[in-house]
Amino acid sequence: MRQLRHGLGVTLCVCSLAWALPAAVGEGAANAPEDVTLLQAMLRVVKGPGGRPYVSFRMDGELGAGTKLALAAFQRDNKIVESPVKPEGPTWTALRAALPGAYAGLRVLPGSRIVYFEATAAEAAKSIYEIESYGEFETGFQKQIVEMVRRMYEEHRIVLWITLTGWRRAFGTQATISRRASWAGPGESTHHYGRACDLGFRDFRWMDAGGMVRTDTDWLEKMSRELGPASWKMWKARDTIAFSLGLFKIAWEGVHLQAVEDERVNNARSLVKLLEKTGGMKWEVETKGRVAHYRCDLGRGKGMVPVGTAQEIWTGRALVGDAAMRKALREEFEKAERNWRAWEAVE
Ligand SMILES: [Zn+2]
Repeated sequence: MRQLRHGLGVTLCVCSLAWALPAAVGEGAANAPEDVTLLQAMLRVVKGPGGRPYVSFRMDGELGAGTKLALAAFQRDNKIVESPVKPEGPTWTALRAALPGAYAGLRVLPGSRIVYFEATAAEAAKSIYEIESYGEFETGFQKQIVEMVRRMYEEHRIVLWITLTGWRRAFGTQATISRRASWAGPGESTHHYGRACDLGFRDFRWMDAGGMVRTDTDWLEKMSRELGPASWKMWKARDTIAFSLGLFKIAWEGVHLQAVEDERVNNARSLVKLLEKTGGMKWEVETKGRVAHYRCDLGRGKGMVPVGTAQEIWTGRALVGDAAMRKALREEFEKAERNWRAWEAVE
């Protein structure tokens, strides 16, 4: 096994860097859609003596008449007699050799018809370096994410990146997020505590069925529009690795990964625990619908009074009579935020 060492101090395995070898394709072979798709993609990129590609129809992963004709034409032009086409046989070898340099890293996601370009080891090292040098993830979670990126590159040659807003999030940032995007108020997201990140596919390059090369967003918006549910295989490939590393996702946000299982953490109750740990007041919470409403003893050690939602408290609109107390409540939240590492998941 060869190891590629980068200046950034990241070691990446390159044992299978060359090619994910397809199985046999042709009469009497398995003709897995992923292998046929790769063959079609290569025959679309490689041009014949007339300057035209061998495949000009939409790639579908099926070994139909058009694909057989294209394959036969390529073999004839290259004086190859081989059927079925074997992984390390003369046809694949000649196809690979004929690929223009920019297409050298063409591959297909296993179990799919998604044609894409391998990312480089340097890109993987850069993403890993960004995460490793970030000081605001919980340590164990940080290691899991680094391993996640490393494994995704090792298995699929795909580089995942933390999205622009996917790092540790300030309470104040959460306050500006619309309730349509998230029900969580300030202090009520695992993002605040360095136990969550949004890990997407920034700049992922893939080839659509018509042969167009697309550069996608973290959320794979182009692929989602073009392929619909078939694009979910990308997320599945990511999540299979994430789950094996003990990471969790939440139902409604594809890019999000976190250190705790969503069903086993109540974000509002966890915030209450942190508030009591870091401040001087007693807190309770009750969730109505999806919004958590807090009660507090205001530091007086007597009865509990309703003080409103996290959003109201953070923005100085707590349901208490005087401005000084509204400010004091906000300060309790600020203390909790400063001590974010002390957060614990409460069910
Ligand atoms: Zn998220």
